[in-house]
Amino acid sequence: MIRKTCIFCASSQKVDRVYFQAVQELAYLLAKNDIVVQYGGGAVGMMGELAKTVMENNGEIIGVIPEFMIKMEWGNTNITELIVVKDMHERKRRLIKDVDAVIALPGGCGTLEELSEVITLKQLGQFIKPIIILNINKFFDPFIEFLNKMINEKFMREVHRDIWTVVEKPENVLMAIESTPEWDPAIIKIAQI
Ligand code: AMP
Repeated sequence: MIRKTCIFCASSQKVDRVYFQAVQELAYLLAKNDIVVQYGGGAVGMMGELAKTVMENNGEIIGVIPEFMIKMEWGNTNITELIVVKDMHERKRRLIKDVDAVIALPGGCGTLEELSEVITLKQLGQFIKPIIILNINKFFDPFIEFLNKMINEKFMREVHRDIWTVVEKPENVLMAIESTPEWDPAIIKIAQI
């Protein structure tokens, strides 16, 4: 059963409509399935759209935001709960705590950093839940190609390919989470390549 997911997505307000539509569709599905959303706590861009759609559909959404962003007045006050943390490091730790899956949507360096860190943690057996890459508009194709290059050139192992699952549409996300096999934290034993 999926109770809570962490969503990584862009803070940009200027991206194409296709990305906003995707985040709306995903937010609607999560709210309707009573899945709690944990995200970066922003009020604008795709993050803001995610929060707005979850709230409009009577869902539950928890924001986790560092103090300095609160000072900038970036915190979204129109969500179920806004947790203020010390810094970006604590935020990343808190965002993936107790979630049943991580879902990455298109974004900038912030999103890419969050996604890369959680992939690394899973490689080291420190995070064992499904990681879903929602490849809207083929946005992640170059990143997936880069991951494949890492595997092909033996910077990662073949088995590491199972760390992430790529889906093309929001409607496929929940099924992808449910069908992801359990990850064995003992993977750390083969972390050295
Ligand atoms: P990006 O994918 O680069 O847009 O990164 C999203 C990340 O940017 C978030 O997780 C935050 O760390 C940060 N961020 C940038 N602007 C904002 C904002 N207005 N509100 C909240 N977080 C923001």
